[in-house]
Amino acid sequence: MPELPEVEITRLQIEPYLAGRRILRVATTAPSYFFITPPEEVRALLKGAYIASLERKGKYLMADLGDRGTLLLHLGMTGQLFTEGATSVRLLSKTAQAALSPENQRRFSGNDGHTHLRISFDDGGPRIFFRDVRKFGKVQLLRPGESCKRLESLGRDALELTEDYLHGITRKRKAPIKSFLLNQRLIAGIGNIYADEALFLSGIRPTRRAFRLTHADCRRLAKEVRAVMLRSIKAGGSSIRDYISPEGQDGGYQDERRVYARTGESCLDCKSSIKRVVVGQRSSHYCPKCQK
Ligand SMILES: [Zn+2]
Repeated sequence: MPELPEVEITRLQIEPYLAGRRILRVATTAPSYFFITPPEEVRALLKGAYIASLERKGKYLMADLGDRGTLLLHLGMTGQLFTEGATSVRLLSKTAQAALSPENQRRFSGNDGHTHLRISFDDGGPRIFFRDVRKFGKVQLLRPGESCKRLESLGRDALELTEDYLHGITRKRKAPIKSFLLNQRLIAGIGNIYADEALFLSGIRPTRRAFRLTHADCRRLAKEVRAVMLRSIKAGGSSIRDYISPEGQDGGYQDERRVYARTGESCLDCKSSIKRVVVGQRSSHYCPKCQK
């Protein structure tokens, strides 16, 4: 599932292909739960729209359409946003890949039934595709000034987490710190892997009650949350050549894992056995010696 780093990588890679261009037309697939705004409205409202920028909040991408409003995109579980001519065989299933000639394996027309948005521009340059096999992704058009619960309920972006903010939200709260990190209403964008890794790097056990974090703990944890996100963005960004955002964990942070999914293996710092505990229904991994 794309986490904040994968969404940010997508944004960094695709923004140069969106910002400053005017949409000629948009082709869509049939109405489905993928389209929060019905596809015929998406097609009508995007026709002729000028895209000023592509922003990100948590795991949402937002294309600023000026007086037409905002195009909101969520990649869901398997969503991929990419440019025409910059595609790879990783887009296709193994069976579909095998059925293509080598030349066609390198091309992608966008007409495969899973590509829910195909955006053409008036400059005649490369089209942009939004493909999503499992359709947990979302497309929504917000009119200027229209509010959106999905966005408004998001807490501070994980890349902007600070000591003071973390200290503030954890006062008088007895919940385990791990649950705080995963609560998107408080901090947007931290997934299970990154939460465990940041807690390890700051020496804090996932089960520690939030209010017990000192200022110094909050400083270290905020710093490590930002650092694991940035390292992951860098790792993913350098391994993806074709504007294909990662499928699953492809090209991501997994090679740098210190504790996540390493239950029973040795801590890389102290050789203790990594433990697993369930916190708020999520598996959490920690070193009993390095984390207090
Ligand atoms: Zn250790």
